[in-house]
Formats: sequence, structure tokens, C-alpha cells
Amino acid sequence: MIQTKSSPASAEIVDAISSFLASPPEGTPVEIIEAFDAFGSMQHLPPKLFLETVEQAPVAISITDPTAKIVYANSAFELLTGYARGEVIGHNESVLSSRSTPDSVYEDLWDSIKRRKVWRGTLVNHKKGGEGYLAELVVSPVLDNQGAIAYYLAMHRDITELHQLERRLSFQKSLTEAALDAAPMVVTMITAERKVLLDNHAYKALLGDFRGMEPAEMFLNALEQQIGFDLMSACRAGEGFTNIDVRLDPSGSASPRWFICSGVRVAELDDAAQSYFRQPEQTRCCLLLTAIEVTGSRRRINDARLNMLRTSIAEQQMVQTMREAISASIFKLQEPLNIIRAALSMPETGADQNGLRQALRHALQSSDRVMESLHAALPSPTAEQMTTVNINEILHEVVRLSTERLLASGMVLDWRPAAVLPPMIGRTNALRGLFKYLIDNAIQAVNESRRDYRELRLQTRLVNRELVIEVIDNGPGINEAMRLKVFEPFFCGWRKAGTHAGMGLTLAQEVALGHDGGVEIDADFHGGCRVFVRLPVNGAGGGLSDEPG
Ligand code: FAD
Repeated sequence: MIQTKSSPASAEIVDAISSFLASPPEGTPVEIIEAFDAFGSMQHLPPKLFLETVEQAPVAISITDPTAKIVYANSAFELLTGYARGEVIGHNESVLSSRSTPDSVYEDLWDSIKRRKVWRGTLVNHKKGGEGYLAELVVSPVLDNQGAIAYYLAMHRDITELHQLERRLSFQKSLTEAALDAAPMVVTMITAERKVLLDNHAYKALLGDFRGMEPAEMFLNALEQQIGFDLMSACRAGEGFTNIDVRLDPSGSASPRWFICSGVRVAELDDAAQSYFRQPEQTRCCLLLTAIEVTGSRRRINDARLNMLRTSIAEQQMVQTMREAISASIFKLQEPLNIIRAALSMPETGADQNGLRQALRHALQSSDRVMESLHAALPSPTAEQMTTVNINEILHEVVRLSTERLLASGMVLDWRPAAVLPPMIGRTNALRGLFKYLIDNAIQAVNESRRDYRELRLQTRLVNRELVIEVIDNGPGINEAMRLKVFEPFFCGWRKAGTHAGMGLTLAQEVALGHDGGVEIDADFHGGCRVFVRLPVNGAGGGLSDEPG
């Protein structure tokens, strides 16, 4: 039977619905109240007006008896389902079921509404033509004057497109994540406040390798140090960067890692309602950072370089040993010559002494000639250009060059570099030599101490634009009285001097001074020796002059 708008049954429904709206059950969605309360009041409406409101509501509305038999359906229902109301009135709402909603959902629906509770959920319905759609449904019980369920009021809308959009979005998200995770490079999105918004597998692996230290923070610090990159202004002004070489030094004994980094600014669209028509001028921006790890190839290049270095260091050492030997001879010869000079400057007293003076004069002349030839034989120090150097890199190279000696001495290396150090301008070979002297001394000291546990600790950090390098050993240490003496030329305090000429610390100090820095021994350190090397970042090399070292 087709119910018309003016039938007596309609009046009955209107009555029931009006009293339902006068005191809606707890949880009744506002949409239902709004749809029926078009005139803004909760009082009883004239049936004609009420039906007009419901009729014109843009959402599919149906009213059923307590067994879900449809007694009323509005125009939006007809439009959405394709059924004319005459075709569904008198039928169960199940006419809309596509038979693919699980029973448990219906059980939940019925369980709620029978307990006079509002039910909200999603069902798979089908239209008259058989086309399936997703129905977002709200069912509210309508009670009669005695509190018994008189009707059920249902509102539903088609959310198929929304669902498809969500699915597509979630597919796109999975696709993007899978692509990012499969990418053989580190990818991360960083906000202007340095928060990581998004990352991939390679990034997470790095986080594990760096023992929880945020890689994004390390990359940003390195880029700040190396190219003066400023995340805030990059996010504001849109400046990115491409192919910047970055070296990270995780603490502990792990080796350095090298990356080639690029960054682009990505603007985030404001999804606030008020920004629907016009995006605000100040949109949030992030930095998309990609970092390709090149540690393997850098290590191979460095290995080859290290072999070349070994050869050149051996040659340099030979020349240095010669310099030291000749300098030592000059130094030692100077003393008797000074005595002869002093004797000759004394006043003449007798004939016998005339002969002696004659002999002394001859000795002095021939010694002066020997001194001259010794000076001429002294190999001149090699000239070295100033270049950009990374102290962590140099120290690491020296450690690798000393590996055999460290192992032979049973020493444990505690390598604690600053994760990122700014480059300085300096003489690479000279600086390498400086650290080689200090590390050689540490090995010698520990060997002389005959300790069971032998340790060398290397630490680097940046303090007020000054690179501070600590070389610490747990050998016998250097006492207060010797702290300055050990820097004197040809001073040798080792029990077994061997080939040591006592020039190591002198030369190390000379190199540091040549870089406007210094080497000093920590007087307050106990349990070994701690040597501080201080090298200003903008020291002597700041001007990139090419004076010899
Ligand atoms: P049914 O045998 O009818 O029901 C399946 C399960 O539902 C049963 O096992 C039982 O647990 C429960 N159930 C059914 N009827 C009752 C009852 N009278 N009392 C207690 N439990 C019961 N279904 C849709 O698929 N699409 C709709 O858009 C939709 N709109 C609805 C609107 C209203 C206002 C109401 C009250 C129900 C609506 N339903 C809708 C549910 C519908 O009435 C059916 O229960 C459902 O479609 C399943 O029908 P069925 O023939 O597959 O199985």
C-alpha cells in the first residue's frame, strides 16, 4: 500500500516523531535533530509542515515499524536507492541489503536499537538496479507514550565515493611508503622545528647504527657547519641544496660514514576550513632530505690514499730522522766550540800558551767548516700548501696507520670524535705528523708502564670556534716537573730511548703553533697522560696562504 503525505498513518508517525524530537534519546546524532527541527523548535509541528521538512531533507530518511518494515521513505531515499516509495513501503529494510554485510553487524544494530540506543554504522546496500553502495546509517528508536518502541527512524547517505577516496589515499600512502622503504637512500622529511615527520627504512637503520642519536639532527648539524645551511630560512625562502658531501662520525669505535645529501623545500597545504578558498601566505614548510651513503667507495678511495700516505710518511720520517740526527750533532758540537771560543777570547799570558792558542784556532776553524757542511747537509723542511682539512678525518687516518702498533701493544682504542666538526684550513701532512707523534708517544708510554689494560682515548670537540683534541693514554703520565721540559728539543725521558731523538713533542708544538694553536699536557690528569691540542678553526690558515710548513 502506498502511503501518501496526507494519510492518517502519516499523522500518527508525525505525532510519534514530534514527541521523539521533544526529548531525543541520549546519543541521537545532531544531524537527525537538525533535519527534523528545521523550524528551530522542539515543539509539535503541524503534520503538513513536518512532512514537508522531512520530504525535502537532503538525506535519505525512512521510518519503520518495530520489525523494520518500512512505513515511510522520503524523496532523497527514492533518489539514492532507485526505489519509488511505493515499491518499498510494507517491505523490510533488508530489501536494501546486498547480502555482503556480516551478520555480526546486524546483530550489533538490533542489539543497540532494541535497548533503545541509537546505532551508527556502515552497511553494504544495493540500489534497485543492483549497483552496490556503502550506506552510512544512523538508526534511532522512536518511543510511544508508554515508552515502548513505536518506530525506528533511519537516515543514511552514500559514502561509497568517500570510501573509495580513502582507500585510494591509503593505497597511495602504502605505495609511497613502499617506494621510500625500497629506496637505497636515506629519506626524511624534517619540519622547520627540526622534527622528523616522515622517514624510511634506511633512515631507521641509521638511527639504530647511531644508537638512537637522531640522524636528521646530525645531518642538519653537518650541513650547518659545512655550508652554513639554515633550516629555518630554507623552509621560509625555499632554498634547497644538491650533492653536498657530508661526513658523520658516530661515537664509539664505529668508522665514519659518508653521504651525499640533497634537500628540497616542500610546502604543506593548510587543511583548515577557512583556508578552503585561499591558502594563507605563511604556509608551513618542511625539508625533504635525501642522503645517499657512499661510505663503501669513500673507504676504498681512502684505503688507496692511505697506502700512498704510508709510503710518503716513511719517506718523510727518513728525512725527519736525518734532520734530527744532524740537528743533534750541531747541537752537541756547539758546546765544545763555545768553550774553545771562550778560551781564545781570554788574554794571552806566555809563549807556551801561544802554541796552544794556535792549535785551538786551527781546531775552531776546521770545526766551523764542519758545522757549515752539517748545516748544508740539513734537509730543508718540505713546503706544504694550506688546504681544507677535517681533523676527525686526519686523526682517523693516523689511527689506521698506527693500527699494527696499537694491536702489537695490546691497546684498546676508545674513539670519541665529535659527530660533526667544522673544517679548518691547515697543512694536512704537518697535522698528520703532529698526531702521529702524540699517538706514538702514547703507545710508547703504555708499553713502558707494563699495565695489563692498555688504552688510548682520542676525543675531539668544538669549543668556541676552537677544535680541541685530547690524546689520552693510561701509561705512567708526565709529572709536574717534566711538563714543560718534555717540549725542549732533544729531551728524551723514555726508559728505552731507542731511535727516539727527543724531538717529537717539540715538532708537534711547532706544527700547532704554525696553526695558531698549541699543545699542552694536562697537569690535573691522573692515571696516565692527557695531551690537549687546540687548533682554532680560523687560525693561521684562515687566509689560505701558501707558506711552507
Ligand atoms: P535477518 O534475518 O533479517 O537479520 C539478520 C540478523 O539481524 C538476525 O540474525 C538477527 O540477529 C538480527 N535481526 C533481524 N531482525 C531482527 C529483529 N526484528 N529483532 C532482533 N534482531 C533482528 N539492513 C540493510 O541491509 N540495509 C539497510 O539500509 C537497513 N536499514 C535499516 C533501517 C532500520 C530502521 C532498521 C530497524 C533496520 C535496518 N536494516 C537494514 C536491517 C534489516 O532490517 C535487516 O535486519 C538486515 O538487512 C538483515 O536482513 P536479513 O534478511 O539478511 O537477515
